Amino acid sequence: MQNEDELMRPEETISPRDYRFIDSRLWRLVPKGQKALEDISRGFFRLASAIGCGVLIPNLAFAIREGDIFLFVLNCACFAMVAALALWPRKANRLLRASLIVAFFVLGTYQELRFGVVSAGGAWFCSATLFATMFYGLLGLVLSCGSQVLTCLVLGFAMASGRLGWECDTLAFVAFSIGTIGLGSVAGLATETLYERLRLSFDLRRELASELDARKGELERETAVRHDAELRADFLETHDQLTRLPNRESFERSLREAVRAAAGRGRILGVMAIGIDRFMRINETHGPGASDAILIETAGRLLAAFRSDDLVARSGEADFLVLLSDVKSPEDAKDIIEKIKRPFDRSFNVGGQEVGLSASFGLALFPNDGDRAEELILAAEAALRLSNEDGPGSYRLFDASLHARLVKKLLIEHELRAAIRSGSFIPWYQPKVDCLGRIIGAEALARWSLPDGSLRQPADFIAAAERSGFIGDLGRIVLFKSCERAASWPRSGLEPIPVSVNLSPYQFRSEDIVKDIRSILGTTGLEPSRLDLEITESGIMEEGTGAIEKLAELKALGCSISIDDFGTGYSSFATLRDYPVDCVKLPQSFVEPLPADGRASTIASAVIALAHSLDFRVVAEGVENREQFAWLDHAACDQYQGFLFSKPLPAEDFELALAKGLGATVE
Ligand code: C2E
Ligand code: CA
Ligand code: CA
Repeated sequence: MQNEDELMRPEETISPRDYRFIDSRLWRLVPKGQKALEDISRGFFRLASAIGCGVLIPNLAFAIREGDIFLFVLNCACFAMVAALALWPRKANRLLRASLIVAFFVLGTYQELRFGVVSAGGAWFCSATLFATMFYGLLGLVLSCGSQVLTCLVLGFAMASGRLGWECDTLAFVAFSIGTIGLGSVAGLATETLYERLRLSFDLRRELASELDARKGELERETAVRHDAELRADFLETHDQLTRLPNRESFERSLREAVRAAAGRGRILGVMAIGIDRFMRINETHGPGASDAILIETAGRLLAAFRSDDLVARSGEADFLVLLSDVKSPEDAKDIIEKIKRPFDRSFNVGGQEVGLSASFGLALFPNDGDRAEELILAAEAALRLSNEDGPGSYRLFDASLHARLVKKLLIEHELRAAIRSGSFIPWYQPKVDCLGRIIGAEALARWSLPDGSLRQPADFIAAAERSGFIGDLGRIVLFKSCERAASWPRSGLEPIPVSVNLSPYQFRSEDIVKDIRSILGTTGLEPSRLDLEITESGIMEEGTGAIEKLAELKALGCSISIDDFGTGYSSFATLRDYPVDCVKLPQSFVEPLPADGRASTIASAVIALAHSLDFRVVAEGVENREQFAWLDHAACDQYQGFLFSKPLPAEDFELALAKGLGATVE
């Protein structure tokens, strides 16, 4: 397909202004309404009639002087026909065109008959040939020239036999005859050539125009399709696909604008959080299809219950948010909630079965309970959470003094969601060393890097992430980044030591954990034997009997397994024997009282002995001083981890330490 430049160029070269010879055949080519071309054609015949006028006057004078009425009339007729073509070119029918050529021919023949070959007759012959070519193409040219040759032959014989009233030298006769015929032919051929070029140009122009039209149509269609796709993508981004209600982000944007407008006009806004009570049970008892149907029905009922200028959005699995755009006074709030309970008064029909549902509500008001959209939503959700404590179908109004902690908790969940999306969790690495202080492993510990460059410690977010269900995503990010980094160490000439990554009980419970780890190992290229998974004792216990199988599957990937914080849980030593693990980690709480505390020393040596008897390695955590280290070394502990050797370090600093091979504080 040609590009646009190529399409434009030929059109410039065939501009009608470049063609000055246009005959009436052009009318068949030129589409009606092309004013410029009509003008050009008419212009040509006007010029011809102007020249004809100039030629006519001396010719008429000549005819009068000779007293030749026939010549006079014929001259006038020819001029009239050219003028008619100039004035009404579209009416130039065949008869008129043929008559004009015949008239020229007769005029030429008559003049040569009467006045000899050296008369104006030759010029009329030339004109006849020119017009014949213009009107009928090469056929016209051949016919006209042929007729002239015949006429000249007849005249030549007549002259030779002395039947004409004039005489001429034979050579001059032949030269003049050939001259006029040749001149006519040249003029005719030139006309035909120009005509042909013009025809090709117009064909090309028409083709280009239709191709351009087609491309324009195609472009218009493509633009329409793209526009539709953009609208759809925009809708999907801002709306919940199931209920088609705006989603949380879109609600927050609208609320931000509403807050700005309400602040200017001193109005009160209400933000209501609605949660369907015990929704999980619907899922369990009636299946996901039923819960989807209920959510769609709820969305419809909520839309019907609120005013059209209120905004209803879906903010979570069974949670909705409503922006009440104009609350008259804080006292109205209770009435509003009473009214809003009505959508849940009627039962829901699920596959022919009537299911009664209730919802709880939390309400926050602008400006009383917050002046930022985010804050208002969290306040309403905090009120909803507290209403849950009062049982199904209850409601609470936000009360800042009581709920500050809850808001903080919700705020961190909100921030967690954003941090997961932007992948703001990074692993730091704490060396694990042997009894000589040589680095023989590392534990990856999550840090949350904030936009201002500061870091949050796990104590501030791991529990919140576990509570709010984000730990799976968070753990996956840390696992991926740790494996990716560890895979790069041998490439940078560093020792290929194993890396230990913490798996939360929630992650360990997940059905996808084996698949996830396999895929991360595959993507990052880390050898499975270099990945150690630290699972807390309680995490393993919670999984019950399935734990052994799960651990075996993880080990089958080629990874090693460590029991974190060993001894703090409630595992029986009997079951411990069955776990396919490689290592136990002696928790900091056991190490810290060493060596002075006799009871602690007894427990620590018992744990180390037990682990060794089961063929587990022992890593002591939280080793902070030389006394602890010396005691543990004496108790035949296998590896050590603690501030005595190194604090957790950012990847770059850890790699510098690894290059030296030693934990920072052991010479
Ligand atoms: P943990 O797995 O028991 O990790 C050891 C914690 O002890 C780390 O705290 C480490 O900085 C700290 N520590 C190490 N040596 C010493 C020492 O000599 N003295 C003292 N006082 N502390 C020491 P951190 O990094 O704050 O992590 C705390 C906990 O957060 C971890 O305990 C782990 O349970 C959890 N965590 C950290 N990262 C992750 C992660 O990526 N996923 C999961 N699920 N949990 C993580
Ligand atoms: Ca750990
Ligand atoms: Ca630990």
